[in-house]
Amino acid sequence: MAKVQFIKAADVKPWLAELAKEHRVFAPSYDGEALLFRPFDPAREIVLDRAATMPPKKTVFPQSEQLVDFTYSKDPEDLSRIKIDARETLPSGSTVVFGSRPCDVRGFTMFDRVYLTEKTTDIYYKARRDNTLFITLACASIENTCFCNWVDSDPCDSTGSDVLAIPVSGGYLLETVTDRGGKLLSSKLLVDGESKKEEAEKFCEEVAGALGAARDLSQAPEKLLAVFDNMEFWDEVSAKCLSCGACTYLCPSCYCFNITDETIGMKGKRLRSWDNCMSAQFTMEASGHNPRPTKAHRLKNRVGHKFSYYPAIHGGVTSCCGCGRCIKSCPAGIDIREIVLKAIDFKPAAVEE
Ligand code: SF4
Ligand code: SF4
Repeated sequence: MAKVQFIKAADVKPWLAELAKEHRVFAPSYDGEALLFRPFDPAREIVLDRAATMPPKKTVFPQSEQLVDFTYSKDPEDLSRIKIDARETLPSGSTVVFGSRPCDVRGFTMFDRVYLTEKTTDIYYKARRDNTLFITLACASIENTCFCNWVDSDPCDSTGSDVLAIPVSGGYLLETVTDRGGKLLSSKLLVDGESKKEEAEKFCEEVAGALGAARDLSQAPEKLLAVFDNMEFWDEVSAKCLSCGACTYLCPSCYCFNITDETIGMKGKRLRSWDNCMSAQFTMEASGHNPRPTKAHRLKNRVGHKFSYYPAIHGGVTSCCGCGRCIKSCPAGIDIREIVLKAIDFKPAAVEE
């Protein structure tokens, strides 16, 4: 049965300090103007009244990570014979992420369908995913870029989390979501939270109401396919795009990467780093041919992947969690919601006989 505990706001830092004795702990705090998930430091202020600038994506899927290190050696008898010793460098240790938002954590469930399948398991992703626990904070403030309720979620959604923290008077109600999350709730700083449950339920109703009515996106997959070849449509919606990639780097459900080798002398390491489908180089082939030669083709792919192609192979699930970061951070003011709605409403011009 789900454990329900209460923690005073003033006890959050001491609790995280306890957890930090056994886990790497990340919490949102400012780094300049950016609110980021940073290693817990009792001297830093933890900021919980707004969503972080970047989701905690890199706690499970680092911006750049070493996969393998390798050493070359040449056979002194025959220099054309090269031996390569390669070693996987798997991550170890456990991590707790405090203060992630429901949309952020739901993003990892979109990674899971790709990196943890029956046929293929990404061992690096799995090692971190299995050892990273999320204490997710229900959203108290809704921004005009939030639309999680359009994509089957809500501000108190616990999908993918281990503990859900709900703001209540004086602190937070902590609900266990998974057994491993329950193990984080053994501190003496926590007290029984049953008496706060009603208040927490009311909070969740109110914030869900603050999001306003959800738009129906059920037709998005087929309608986006219907405009697939309509480059006039895509030229128009992408006209302002600067191809900066902010939308992909800040997206909690974007999981593309590139692989590079770095070598010094006879030693080297293989790195995996985030990649960005809005960049012209993303699909550039060695021959010089680029199947997505314009920003219109690239934006079509980004929107189509999230709202049409991914749902087609993953049981109708949209690969967007409605966090709104791509809208908030786009320097050109491109709004993914408007593009999807425009495709849904698009009517081809009547052909004159
Ligand atoms: S596509 Fe935009 S709104 Fe959707 S999850 Fe990514 S950043 Fe958030
Ligand atoms: S953030 Fe905006 S301008 Fe930058 S690549 Fe994305 S859509 Fe284009």
